[in-house]
Order: sequence, then structure tokens, then C-alpha cells
Amino acid sequence: MTHIVHRNLREAPPIAASGRGIWLRDASGHEVIDGSGGAAVACLGHGHPHVVAAMKAQIDRLCYAHTALFTAESAERLADMLVGHAPGGLTHAYFVSSGSEGMEAALKIARQWVIEAGQPQRTKFIARRQSYHGNTLGALAAGGNAMRRAPYAPILSDAFSHVSPCYPYRDRHDGESDADYVARLAAELEAEFQRLGPQNVIAFCAETIVGATLGCATALPGYFPAMKAVCERHGALLILDEVMSGMGRSGTLHAWEQEGVTPDIQVIAKGLGGGYQPIGGILVHGRVIEALTKGSGTFKHGHTYQAHPVACAAALAVQEVIRDENLLDNVKAMGALLEQGLTERLGNHAKVGDIRGRGLFWAVELVKDRASKAVFDPALAVNECVKKEAFQRGLACYPMGGTIDGKHGDHVILAPPYVCTGEEIGMIVERFGDAVDAAVAGL
Ligand code: PLP
Repeated sequence: MTHIVHRNLREAPPIAASGRGIWLRDASGHEVIDGSGGAAVACLGHGHPHVVAAMKAQIDRLCYAHTALFTAESAERLADMLVGHAPGGLTHAYFVSSGSEGMEAALKIARQWVIEAGQPQRTKFIARRQSYHGNTLGALAAGGNAMRRAPYAPILSDAFSHVSPCYPYRDRHDGESDADYVARLAAELEAEFQRLGPQNVIAFCAETIVGATLGCATALPGYFPAMKAVCERHGALLILDEVMSGMGRSGTLHAWEQEGVTPDIQVIAKGLGGGYQPIGGILVHGRVIEALTKGSGTFKHGHTYQAHPVACAAALAVQEVIRDENLLDNVKAMGALLEQGLTERLGNHAKVGDIRGRGLFWAVELVKDRASKAVFDPALAVNECVKKEAFQRGLACYPMGGTIDGKHGDHVILAPPYVCTGEEIGMIVERFGDAVDAAVAGL
């Protein structure tokens, strides 16, 4: 009998008893490779000695001080490390406890910016369909995933509207070139600005690589520059949500580094603290902070646990490890191996429609029929079946997708820790391939 409101109210998950490196062990002693780092979180795996030591040292020194009274040394050092060199003009960081809180902060600082900039009539955000920005009500309203929004639609803000994501696997027209597809998406965004009145739009929000709701869907070259050009034309901000794809997961510290754009506000979380502590945040462009500093002189927002000293110490240590162990190089090298392994093992599989991703962030989209891209009946929960089959074989992976619009297929995400080896990638591919075979056998 459990007293926790688990995700599945009918079946409690196994108790996670211990973790070491890329391995997790449950209370019965069953060991699995943490092949997706939870939801692309555990970027260093488990029990990294540098992070554990940094957390212990911080706990011994100071566990908590309220940010209305104090700043913490760990928070200052973390901000300095992330934005002290102003990557892409991002000069300031604001730390919260999750990705959703980060998204809320991004939306609010963007709204405050237009007020301070003398444009209070700007009250609209444009985001994308099939996106996920978090589960708190503001972040959920920004997200365009029909299944997650449906129960709450009557209580979601109407400040958000949605345009198409960049999703060539399903949405590109027959014979359409990359450039034509990108131009069509830019025209759609432009039309949405015009519909809302360009002077009324605060920002365009997008995941740099779509995570949970489209399965590691990367944008086509030129897509983000085209979108940013539309935003700039109308004086709106670009908010990039890198909660899943950021902090090294894509092979560069920020996924936008590979897209030819810089955001005005960037949301970060999972790879920031690697799961060692709950932490998320936003990185903010200097001009946004300057307007607030010269204007009201305050960001009208705040949480009791923002910039928590222990969370910031953990995140600082995680980022030091990524830097000092040259893990971005390993992400690129192991990511190439993972892509190759998945392609060799599943590239011609009758039920695999697409294999896509970047760095150590890969998804396999499962379909009933490769030629027509027909999706499985969501009631079959094929993604969950893959998860279960993989778990039995000693691999944890992250099942997602299978939507109520019948248009998007089940997908399963692999996002191994940045510290994984080639041998471990081989084990992940083998176990995952066998799990897919077992899950779709007879379907
Ligand atoms: N944004 C993106 C892109 C995410 O993938 C997630 C979580 O999966 C969130 C926001 C919300 O983060 P959290 O679950 O930490 O609130």
C-alpha cells in the first residue's frame, strides 16, 4: 500500500535503491542502465564524487538563506560560470527549482520587459503545437501538446497561440525542399503575428530540439534564423526552452549554438544540475536586464527556494565536471556511436518510422506501417511496452508520444549520461533493439 500519488495510480514503480555511474539498482537488486537519465536529466550518471563532495561541503557550510536577504556564493559562482562571458549576449541568470518554474520566469520577465520598454499592449505569446514547456499552468498554456492540455484547457490562459513545429518527418510536403519548408513555417509565423497584431506579441517560444512531445526533433538548417527574423521584424523576443536539450545534451553546451541564433531568454534545467538537486533557471540577454534595471529596478517575481545554495553548489559542480572532463567531446563521439548503432540495429525495422536526434539525445518513432507512417492505436501504449521490455532487459528508457490527434507516433527517447563509454553504448543499443522487437512482435 502506497501513500504517494504516483504517476500510475494503479501500479507503484519499483523503488530506486542506489545508483552508481550509469547504473541504477532497484530494491529487489535488479540493475538497469540509466539509458535516458530519467527524462534526459542525469547527465553525469549517479554518485559522481566531485558533485557529491561539493554538495556535502555546501551542506556543512550553509543549507539555506532567503534571497530577499542574501545571495549565496554558490549561486554567484554558478551564474558567473554560465554567463560571466556573456554567451550570445546572455549576461544574467535567474535560478529556480525546475524547468516549469524556469518557463514561468521566462514568460514573466518577457512580459515585464515589454512593460518597462513602454509597450504594455504586448500581451500575446506565440508557441508551437506539439511542444512541451512544463506542467504548471503558465508553462502548460505555452505548450502545444493537445493530450497534456486537454483536461486543463478551460483554465489555461488565452495569451498563447500555436503555430506548426519544424517536423520534416511528417509535416514536410512531398517534394518540398528544406528551404521551401522553412519559408512556409516562417510565413505561418508571420501570418500569426499579423492575426494577433504584430505590436501585441511579446515573444515566440520554442524548444531548440523538441523533447518529450516530438521525440528529439531537430530543426532544419535555417529554421531558427528565419523564425528569429520574424520576431525581430516585429520587436518580439525569442524564448528558447532548452530544459531538455541544453547544458551539453546536444554536443554543445547550448543547443542554439548549432542553430545560428541566440535567444533573448533561454530556459535551462535538467542538465544544469544533472538531477543531483532540483534546479532550473533562465539565462537572460543584457538588453532585457538593462531595461528592468533602468526601469522599475526589480524583477517582480520570486520563489522561496530560488537560487538555493545547495542546488547551486550541485549545479556548479556538475558544470565543472562537464568542462574539466571534456564531456562535450564525449557527447559528440558517443552520440555518433549511438546514432550509428540505432541505425544499424533498427534502421530497416518494419515498425520504426524515424530515428532522429543530436548529441546524446536520440529518439525512435514507432509506427504501424513505415510507408504510410500510420501510428499505432494509442490504447496499445506501444511506447510503454518498449519501456517495460527494456527494463526487464536491464535498460531504462523514456517513453513518450502517442497523441490524441492520431497524427504523431509513439516514440522512445534515449539520453545516456555524458560519461558513458562505447561499450556501454553497445549494450544500450542491443538491449533497446531487443526491447523494440519484443514490444511490437505480432502488432
Ligand atoms: N520544458 C521542457 C522542454 C521539458 O522537457 C520539460 C520537462 O520535461 C519542462 C520544460 C518542465 O520541466 P520540469 O519537469 O522540471 O518542470
